[in-house]
Amino acid sequence: MTTISKEQIVRWLESTAAVLNENAAYLTQLDSPIGDADHGTNMDRGFKKVMEKLPTVADKDIGNILKTVGMTLISSVGGASGPLYGTFFMRGGMAADAKEELTNGDMVELLQAAVDGVIQRGRAQLGDKTMIDALLPALAALKSGTESGKGVVAAIADAVAAAEQGMKDTIPLQARKGRASYLGERSIGHQDPGATSSFLILNALLTTLNA
Ligand code: ADP
Ligand code: MG
Repeated sequence: MTTISKEQIVRWLESTAAVLNENAAYLTQLDSPIGDADHGTNMDRGFKKVMEKLPTVADKDIGNILKTVGMTLISSVGGASGPLYGTFFMRGGMAADAKEELTNGDMVELLQAAVDGVIQRGRAQLGDKTMIDALLPALAALKSGTESGKGVVAAIADAVAAAEQGMKDTIPLQARKGRASYLGERSIGHQDPGATSSFLILNALLTTLNA
């Protein structure tokens, strides 16, 4: 497979909604010791709304679909993660403007724009124990896989492996952004919920492409 179709993007969003629903209790449990125990509920609520909106835009281009996802998340999810994931999908959608399919080069541009948006909005850097710790390694792996001539699915598989490693690597970190940062050193030893949801979202794309 050399490109990702619009239908696959729609199936990815459906799969993401299902995965976030299945993992809602897990994500909320991760958000208990270092947050306010709502990350799973937030993400599940947001993607339920996305599922309600999706049929109204499923025949539009990929950019339009992803921008709608972003706006829906911004308007339906409170907390830090709503605006941040909202920005992720809005910016990703802007990078995919008018596209009906995505090459691996398009995918790199999309993820780059999405991650840049999250960084601009949240001001987190690598190592601050946030979703950025899963997203930036994923972006780097997607880029290097693509540059070394891998197909789009293989490059995304590399990105997912990097996101999973980045997620696990948040455990020993002290949080420097978001609610968890209020805990100072007590945030050490816990996996970041947002890095975990980022891994799950990217992994849902890989699962969809391999289906
Ligand atoms: P809240 O912290 O408002 O309750 P959530 O629980 O839904 O929101 O999301 C928490 C997650 O948001 C954290 O685990 C972290 O990954 C992410 N996060 C928080 N602040 C930032 C930030 N400034 N930049 C990037 N990600 C952030
Ligand atoms: Mg929370």
